Amino acid sequence: MATFIDRVVLHVAGGNGGHGCVSVHREKFKPLGGPDGGNGGNGGDVTLVVDANVHTLLDFHYRPHQRAGNAKPGMGDHRNGANGESLTLRVPPGTVVSTPEGEPLADLTMVGHEFVIAPGGRGGLGNAALASSRRKAPGFALLGEAGDEVSVVLELKSVADVGLVGFPSAGKSSLISVISAARPKIADYPFTTLVPNLGVVQAGEHVYTVADVPGLIPGASQGKGLGLEFLRHVERTSVLVHVVDCATYEPGRDPLSDIDALTHELDEYGDLSARASMVVLTKVDVPDAREIADMVRPQLEERGFTVFAISAVTHEGLEPLKFALGEAVVAHRIANPPEEAARIIIRPKAVGENGFTVEPDPETEGFVVRGVKPERWIKQTDFQNDEAVGFLADRLAKLGVESALAKAGAVAGCDVTIGGVTFGWDPTADSIAGDTGVVAFGHRGTDPRLESAADQRPRAEERRAAKRARRQPFELEDLDADGPTVNG
Ligand code: GDP
Ligand code: MG
Repeated sequence: MATFIDRVVLHVAGGNGGHGCVSVHREKFKPLGGPDGGNGGNGGDVTLVVDANVHTLLDFHYRPHQRAGNAKPGMGDHRNGANGESLTLRVPPGTVVSTPEGEPLADLTMVGHEFVIAPGGRGGLGNAALASSRRKAPGFALLGEAGDEVSVVLELKSVADVGLVGFPSAGKSSLISVISAARPKIADYPFTTLVPNLGVVQAGEHVYTVADVPGLIPGASQGKGLGLEFLRHVERTSVLVHVVDCATYEPGRDPLSDIDALTHELDEYGDLSARASMVVLTKVDVPDAREIADMVRPQLEERGFTVFAISAVTHEGLEPLKFALGEAVVAHRIANPPEEAARIIIRPKAVGENGFTVEPDPETEGFVVRGVKPERWIKQTDFQNDEAVGFLADRLAKLGVESALAKAGAVAGCDVTIGGVTFGWDPTADSIAGDTGVVAFGHRGTDPRLESAADQRPRAEERRAAKRARRQPFELEDLDADGPTVNG
């Protein structure tokens, strides 16, 4: 027997971004040209897409680990690396995505709805893109970032548009088998031999799914039997139908009291009985059953139910029922349009894209800097390359991290941790003097960029260049502005 899966833990990873390339243009008989290292490509995203033809989470049960493609690195001659291949995972409508801790991430109700669950890493900029009037020939490039790796819980809240409610052997499974055009393969629920049957029904232009709700017996809402397991599935069905067996009545039971008992369970569970406005009286091919059906029909109609009498054996009454269910599903869809945008939170961003916090770190007796940009910049930095490290220091100073550290009481040489990397703090003079008025306590002794051949020029010229660079609208932070947005 196959397995009916309504909850899976999925482990996904976006592809890694490609590294930027360091390269200098060369041509025969010509002096050294400019930097021409291309950018790394972006890693592929892992995206969930709601697909009407998918009915279960079974695929993810068999393959819980999924990964998008890695990007290619940049190359010389301004060639950018190719992007990694994205991975699209198809989920059924009604899939709820949450963290393993139970925090909801997205509610995927609408067909076509997309949710980027694990964004790929950004590609690193090549040295061509990093060149500026101040830094004519960068001898470094940025590293590609690793793709996001996340574990999420996928839960299927509703298995169907229509839920069939009724006592065991009322004829629910038989009804589904005779009205459905296709029966997706699902079988025993892991904890029981009960099998919720699911069928896809086509009635005119309407297509909808029908599931039975096995195990719903008096006391189910209190957890008796397996009612709760299955009530969870019907929570979001648009239409509930009472299926009543008219052929085999034990003494002391009759259709009306059966409906009353199950109505009670639905309400105990959560006001679900209002959704059950239809009654299907089954097995009317049996002579006694037809008699009982004819007898209770007026009473049921008096209570406001729409009543259908059917036989799974002779197929009597099936067509009107199929169309009525289709109309009810469509009416419900119109009355309850899915929310425009799913609630989508991938990573909580408490301080915003540009924000960061500086806090004392009891472990190192130094400070920890937390923030989207500083942490990303750390990942992009090749710490083997002095120039890349200098570039990082400039970006941090520009964002205000240095002056914030000074304000927080950091002194030169103390440990600063950003994104898991700890280094001795070596503040630049101007970030401190300029911002806080605090007397500068040291200047970076050596700046590898001043030593690089391509960047050597008289100090006066350098000051003018720096001034020009300050006037330029292109800011260092802008390097991040046109990268892919994390949350789409
Ligand atoms: P469920 O427990 O509600 O899913 O009920 P089933 O669909 O399994 O049916 C229970 C029993 O009733 C089976 O033995 C069926 O063959 C029988 N049954 C179901 N529908 C009809 C019907 O329309 N006419 C007759 N005569 N028997 C039926
Ligand atoms: Mg059944």
